[in-house]
Amino acid sequence: MATPTGIKVVIVGAGFGGLTAAIECHRQGHTVEIYENFPELKTLGDIISFGANGGRIYARWSNGAIAKKLRSLCIDLSDYGFRIHKYDTGEVVHHQRSPPGPEDAPILNGHRGELHEVVFNFARDELGIPVHLGQFVEEYFEDENQAGIVLKSGERVTADIVIGADGVRSKARELVLGYVDKPKSSGYAVWRAWFSNKDMIADPRTKEFCENGDTFNGWIGPDVHFLFSTIKGGQDCCWVLTHKDEHDIDESWSFPGKLEDVFKVLEGWDPICKAIVEKTPSVVDWKLVYRDPLPTWVSKHARILLLGDAAHPFLPTSAQGATQAMEDGVTIAVCLKRAGKDNIPAAVKAHQEIRYDRVKLVQKTGEATRDRWHKTDWEKVAKDPESISFRREDWIHEHDAEKHAEEVFDVVFKKVTGKVDGPEPAVAPSAPTAVAV
Ligand SMILES: Cc1cc2nc3c(=O)[nH]c(=O)nc-3n(C[C@H](O)[C@H](O)[C@H](O)COP(=O)(O)OP(=O)(O)OC[C@H]3O[C@@H](n4cnc5c(N)ncnc54)[C@H](O)[C@@H]3O)c2cc1C
Repeated sequence: MATPTGIKVVIVGAGFGGLTAAIECHRQGHTVEIYENFPELKTLGDIISFGANGGRIYARWSNGAIAKKLRSLCIDLSDYGFRIHKYDTGEVVHHQRSPPGPEDAPILNGHRGELHEVVFNFARDELGIPVHLGQFVEEYFEDENQAGIVLKSGERVTADIVIGADGVRSKARELVLGYVDKPKSSGYAVWRAWFSNKDMIADPRTKEFCENGDTFNGWIGPDVHFLFSTIKGGQDCCWVLTHKDEHDIDESWSFPGKLEDVFKVLEGWDPICKAIVEKTPSVVDWKLVYRDPLPTWVSKHARILLLGDAAHPFLPTSAQGATQAMEDGVTIAVCLKRAGKDNIPAAVKAHQEIRYDRVKLVQKTGEATRDRWHKTDWEKVAKDPESISFRREDWIHEHDAEKHAEEVFDVVFKKVTGKVDGPEPAVAPSAPTAVAV
């Protein structure tokens, strides 16, 4: 058990970002509570990915028990790997090995709602972190000495620091930026679905995906990619199809889509894609939101911090959105511990200094993979199949957010408090200066 720091942290939002921040604040000895709008936990969403850099964070919780639980719910591709097909001929152009990673840094891909439930229950029931559900936060405020929130009921709650982990439609962002920053369409949308395999296994064209354990296949075409997985030993299926879309942005995860629109996009594609989509009971149409990096994640008095999607939405092709939210949570918890209760604003600024450039670079990898896939040079792929692989960059996956924050904190703290007495620190030493496309 960590020594209590006497620092009170209020977190808004119980997504993976908010929950990780809460768990890590608890681990580092801070007193923490969460305010969340949803009134009860529901298993919402579909497939979500965590890189080894997220798995490493999970592996530290409850002596590895949480990572183990999550792993049992996730896809196991040790036998099947990831098979990448050309969209029209259906030929497998690359077969990528996909080991699940070591126990202390597993790669995790599973149902968002199921994984979220494990993390939520760990925070609330095992660690005893107060999670106030059904509490919509209407306002944020701060001065030099404290920060706070105003709930819908009018109740005011104060703390040493407030973390706005309130997702892409963040209200905290309005206070931090001083204006409403509307998310923009990325020019793409994703149709997504998750369902049981029963019709899939009954169809001779698709049963191979469900009768031999977990599978992962991707079809890559001009400005479209279609990813299909079977999971839990082939018992469940899920697919996502990313395509061009300039329509109005709706950030809800439950916005219904139309299968006939999906079939239109799949005209001329390998017929197996249609055979898969036909079995889908319902589809979600999710407009992909993107925004240029915010100028800052830190409020005027540096007592309110934006974290996770509130600060930096990711494209799914980075497979890092949730993991980067987790890295944020780890980093702020370390910074608060190292800076101490008398130096909260410096801790918050140090967090941004440590995280900002790395996040920006990781965000870029999502664009790079999407563009590489959507504008594939098939002759190049024929000569070098590896060039179409889904890249897992070591500088992203081998990063240990806790160790890194501990290592660079002293130098960064001096920098943000204006006490630099040496060369500037290499804050993100493991990140390259350019991202491979
Ligand atoms: C319901 C849902 C389903 C999702 N499904 C998927 C999926 O299938 N695949 C995928 O890759 N990603 C999914 N995501 C997004 C993914 O979880 C995030 O991109 C990532 O985990 C980063 O999480 P975050 O904690 O920063 O934000 P989020 O996960 O968006 O969490 C933000 C939380 O803040 C709460 N909140 C927002 N405003 C307020 C307020 N004013 N007061 C109180 N609480 C507030 C929200 O209810 C939410 O729980 C989903 C997100 C949500 C909310």
